[in-house]
Amino acid sequence: MEIRLENLTKVFTDAKSKSETRAVDDMTITIPSGKLVGLLGPSGCGKSTTLYMIAGLLNPTGGKIFFGEDDVTDLAPEKRGIGLVFQNYALYPHMTIRQNIMFPLENLKVPKEEAKALTLEMAKLVGIEDQLDKKPGQLSGGQQQRVAIARALVKKPKVLLLDEPLSNLDARLRLQTREEIKRIQRETGITTIFVTHDQEEAMSISDEIVLMEKGVVKQIGGPQEVYENPTNLFVAKFLGTPPIAVYNGSVSKGKVKIGKTTIFSSKELEETEVEAFIAIRPEGYEPAEKGKLKVSYDFIENIGRDLALIAHQENAINPTFRIILQDQNGVTPSTTKFNIKKEKCYVFNKETGERVL
Ligand code: ATP
Repeated sequence: MEIRLENLTKVFTDAKSKSETRAVDDMTITIPSGKLVGLLGPSGCGKSTTLYMIAGLLNPTGGKIFFGEDDVTDLAPEKRGIGLVFQNYALYPHMTIRQNIMFPLENLKVPKEEAKALTLEMAKLVGIEDQLDKKPGQLSGGQQQRVAIARALVKKPKVLLLDEPLSNLDARLRLQTREEIKRIQRETGITTIFVTHDQEEAMSISDEIVLMEKGVVKQIGGPQEVYENPTNLFVAKFLGTPPIAVYNGSVSKGKVKIGKTTIFSSKELEETEVEAFIAIRPEGYEPAEKGKLKVSYDFIENIGRDLALIAHQENAINPTFRIILQDQNGVTPSTTKFNIKKEKCYVFNKETGERVL
């Protein structure tokens, strides 16, 4: 089911100081039916607040929420047809796994036999059917989170909402469980919103990513699209490991400059005169004898298939940054000249942060 947020806003007012926090600010987005959408951004950007408004656990200060054609803005949470999963699993420790999964059906007074069959179906879907008689404490974190997902899905909701579901798991389980979530979402085809502050997590499982900063949506798109085509500096900086390097620069008479050095010319920018931030992905550098940009490095890291130069440059904002190369060819001791691959380089208006190239 498609979810539409229209000018959704949440303002928290501190009771004592009366100071206001615009946790979500005029958010208008469409979550396509049957897709897994990652709500991504740094801590405090309003992801959870957005999710809780969709769930009905928080009332918006303004705006509307639609499930399909239905305006659900004022509908009680239990009437919305949603399944919710939290980061801490929130299972009942004294109940068996079977009882935990079945619990929402008891509230709905679903006949016992039907409830049992549904519970088994969900346990199979998440791959814990041989754990049904155990208690939550006997399961790993990853298994507990799968139980929480089974419990969220047992009522056959139309929407699944996941709030940082992997953040309590260790690295290995996190990888495994995120693949599981992707598989379960594909198999059920349920519209899913997944909140995370981890860009790699969001990139790896989302069909679409909604990137937020300070309550505002900064960009929406497929993982590859937002990575390759950031529309603003925030998105370019937030996505990518190692992070993008950002330099003080300018655009003048069609020339893109870092400091006083022209790194390339661009016909498209012939009419543009602007102070700029020039951002270059780690894989955007080519060592060349007559390379335009002089970069120094402190040492070389061997990172498996590739090499990483731990580099610094007088115009860079980052104190150090990484340059990824396939081999050491052309790299001279301590300072190397590079040509910059245009397709790995973005130019942003320094004042607005908006992309100009
Ligand atoms: P995190 O990843 O840290 O959970 P988030 O992106 O989910 O962050 P929110 O929890 O939605 O962010 O919070 C957004 C902003 O609203 C923050 O500035 C937060 O301090 C504020 N906020 C959230 N809940 C409340 C509340 N109940 N009362 C007052 N302010 C709140």
